[in-house]
Amino acid sequence: MNSRDPFGELSSHRALPPGLKQRFPDRVLVMTTDRCFCACPHCTRKFILGKSPVVDSSARLAACVDYVKRHPKVRDVLLSGGDVLTLSDAKVAKFVEAFVKLDQIEVVRICTRAPVSNPARITAHLARLLRRVGRGKVWANVHINTAEEARLAREAAARLVDCGIPVSSQTVLLRGVNDTPRKMLSLLRALSAARIRPYYVFQCDPVEGLVERFGVPLARAKKIEAYCAERIGGLALPRFVADLPGARRKTPLDLL
Ligand code: SF4
Repeated sequence: MNSRDPFGELSSHRALPPGLKQRFPDRVLVMTTDRCFCACPHCTRKFILGKSPVVDSSARLAACVDYVKRHPKVRDVLLSGGDVLTLSDAKVAKFVEAFVKLDQIEVVRICTRAPVSNPARITAHLARLLRRVGRGKVWANVHINTAEEARLAREAAARLVDCGIPVSSQTVLLRGVNDTPRKMLSLLRALSAARIRPYYVFQCDPVEGLVERFGVPLARAKKIEAYCAERIGGLALPRFVADLPGARRKTPLDLL
């Protein structure tokens, strides 16, 4: 069943501070902003952005940090939104520093589409800043759907990788965009050429309007996965999964 809020992000969770979301024990997502550089037609959060609280004050950030400290299983923080890189370098650094200083935190992810939607935002200064304040814990997570986007992101990714920030990509399988075996293989090759590690290809989330417009049938998705697996090494082969409400993990297509 499709919905505007399949993961219940707009429901109030009294135990969670405003702007913090948690679906899995080891991870939290921080809504740093509700702004993006672009309005992606396939956005699964289009009904959430602007309605869900964001961490827009020092007090809210302190509440998020306090929550993480009280939940020692959390080891991975996603700085998301919206796009965290719509914020100033100083604000990005403030978010990163707040979490990397916690011993329990091993990974802080910068979740951004900037390498595609605003590559100039990934300045050499920003990359060096993330290296300096990140204590070796910062990763960049980019959302890239086509080989053309991967090529567009190449220089921005290089600036990050050259500063020791690993860059990985997640992709959404979209009807009419990347849902042929050749297009997907071409994307994976372009990502690895750009030193961007592909790690997930998602089935479209069950969001109202999106599945109807962009959804790819499961059998077709499995064929695309098999085609790629026979033609590219494991380093550039992502996991093809579905993110299902209520599931305890991202679900591999083989289990569907
Ligand atoms: S960048 Fe991400 S959050 Fe922003 S509109 Fe695109 S898909 Fe949605």
